Amino acid sequence: MHIAIIGSGLAGLTCARQLQAQGNTVVVYEKSGDVSGRMSTRYTELGGFDHGAQYFTATSDPFKKEVAGWRKAGWAAPWNGKLVSLDHGVAKAVGRSADGATQRLVAVPGMSAVGQQLAQQLEVRTEHLVRRVESHGRQWLLAVQSETVPIDATAGPFDAVIVAVPADQAIPLLGAAPKFAKQAARTRSAPCWALMLGFHDSLGLGYDGAWVHGSRLAWIARDASKPQRRPGEHWVGHASKEWSIEHLEDDPERAREKLLKAFHEATGSQVQPIYAAAHRWRHAQAVQPLPGDCLWDARLRIGACGDWFEAGLEGSGRIENAYLSGLALAAAVH
Ligand SMILES: Cc1cc2nc3c(=O)[nH]c(=O)nc-3n(C[C@H](O)[C@H](O)[C@H](O)COP(=O)(O)OP(=O)(O)OC[C@H]3O[C@@H](n4cnc5c(N)ncnc54)[C@H](O)[C@@H]3O)c2cc1C
Repeated sequence: MHIAIIGSGLAGLTCARQLQAQGNTVVVYEKSGDVSGRMSTRYTELGGFDHGAQYFTATSDPFKKEVAGWRKAGWAAPWNGKLVSLDHGVAKAVGRSADGATQRLVAVPGMSAVGQQLAQQLEVRTEHLVRRVESHGRQWLLAVQSETVPIDATAGPFDAVIVAVPADQAIPLLGAAPKFAKQAARTRSAPCWALMLGFHDSLGLGYDGAWVHGSRLAWIARDASKPQRRPGEHWVGHASKEWSIEHLEDDPERAREKLLKAFHEATGSQVQPIYAAAHRWRHAQAVQPLPGDCLWDARLRIGACGDWFEAGLEGSGRIENAYLSGLALAAAVH
């Protein structure tokens, strides 16, 4: 079959690789300039900042096996950073399993590296925003907007379409399968404002990451404490869900200033950064997932996968959910 995959996050890339290995011809469409979605690294003159997903854990057998392969290939490594809980400048040590994690891992040398490696053998069209999925007899056409063409181009026909984007963005693309659009509309995702700070010298805080309480920030982490990062004092902060929702439409400068103030208050350090930026993730994490592991209509040959499926896990909105969902959808297509 000739299959279009919309979205090059871990779910889309996993599904694409499986389907290609099964003998299908696969084309991945990605609206951004790079693959990997929310497993993301922003590269600056100071080095990279993991401003999306921070780390991952592997609890299911299929994901443990996949991660073992990533480690063997040198795409991922454990992160043994010292993590604390931070309350108004007071740091308290937390046990290894504060978030239920047995081992925390990261992609190396930045979070986007795994996606970049997975995309190597795939045909991926970056900077191609899919605006609509239209039926064409028993096949599908995509209306695609790209930088180089002023009007939407038509791609296809494809025998099958996989929608591998956050649920809110999947709804309009699933218009041709209204029952799926309805299911996607039942899930919820939360936004997150991310803060990136670069300092000239070490802040000497004595920890590498912290769950922050009583603050606009919920999490901060020192990027260079992760394996194979460029040395330097780089911190990433994530605002709380509540603050991110309330300030969703703030401009990035305003969000940056407010979150920088929160960083100073939370850490007790008043050192000014030499680099500061804020990034809004409008659909950061699925907070109300769908039961099951993916959607697939064998008659219409359209489906959806992503971190918004439970995929047999206790939580949702995580890298492991995205992987298991992409894997399950490829098996369903097969
Ligand atoms: C701030 C933040 C912190 C996080 N922390 C963690 C963590 O510590 N641990 C953890 O396990 N998970 C974490 N996550 C969640 C994790 O990143 C996601 O669960 C996972 O990466 C989702 O993968 P995905 O493939 O389902 O979706 P995505 O990675 O979002 O991939 C979807 C892709 O589709 C593209 N796309 C969307 N619409 C279109 C369109 N119309 N046309 C073409 N392309 C399109 C997007 O650009 C994107 O690249 C975090 C996420 C964020 C944002």
